[in-house]
Amino acid sequence: MRYCRFLSTENATTLPRYALVEQRGDSLWAVAPMSPPEEDLAAQLAAQHHPDAAFRPSPLADLHLLAPVTPSKILCIGRNYRDHATEMGNDVPKEPLLFLKPPSALLAPGGTILMPSISNRVDYEGELGIVIGRRCHRLGPDEDVRPYIRGYVIVNDVTARDIQKGDGQWTRGKGFDTFCPVGPIVSDEIDPAAGSPVTVTTRLNGVIRQQGSTADLIFSIPHLLRYISASITLEPGDLIPTGTPAGVGPVQPGDLIEVEIDHLGTLGNRTAAS
Ligand code: MG
Repeated sequence: MRYCRFLSTENATTLPRYALVEQRGDSLWAVAPMSPPEEDLAAQLAAQHHPDAAFRPSPLADLHLLAPVTPSKILCIGRNYRDHATEMGNDVPKEPLLFLKPPSALLAPGGTILMPSISNRVDYEGELGIVIGRRCHRLGPDEDVRPYIRGYVIVNDVTARDIQKGDGQWTRGKGFDTFCPVGPIVSDEIDPAAGSPVTVTTRLNGVIRQQGSTADLIFSIPHLLRYISASITLEPGDLIPTGTPAGVGPVQPGDLIEVEIDHLGTLGNRTAAS
């Protein structure tokens, strides 16, 4: 199943809606309405009050797309590719390195990444994100993690590198508004948790800057979910960006960053000074 979340205008009111997505020719299409996941209360209410909203199949490019996840938390993994840890001059971590991005950082596909004036270096980081589907607490050592995964999504872990390094703690440098572009779709039609890797490609103004395989994750998806859930309860809708491959670099105002992952489409966002 693949789906998107979009803003629907009905009787001069805008409401978040969900739709199933299919590949048609070269493009992704929203083809049928879908019930909102339980954690998206705004969409649940909209569906209750306007159950018969008209729906016309259309290419995703013609929709006002929203971030397809509404997480209670965004739990990120740092330095989870050996070549990225090396390029930043860091050792490979002995245990997963966790940090949080606030949900206020979420940005829709096509939304503008606002570069804060208090930073001199903003970087892109293309990543595969896990979307949790079922409450997940203290997973057992042999427990299959896949029933807890709703699907996967593309994330750009935008980072104010100078502030990240200067602060020591990563919250501010990683947490600016618009620093978590995500989408365009969530899909369970890939299975990187079970050893079917996908390729993460990042282009800056059309030039490939990152290309890594999730086969090279230092800590696998099952390992990450077991490690996180030993201390933090994961809720449906929570988002876990799994780390970025080598090739991160700075952006300038007006740049276009595109992150592409097999079967998940392309997440495109431009930058602007703010
Ligand atoms: Mg990252």
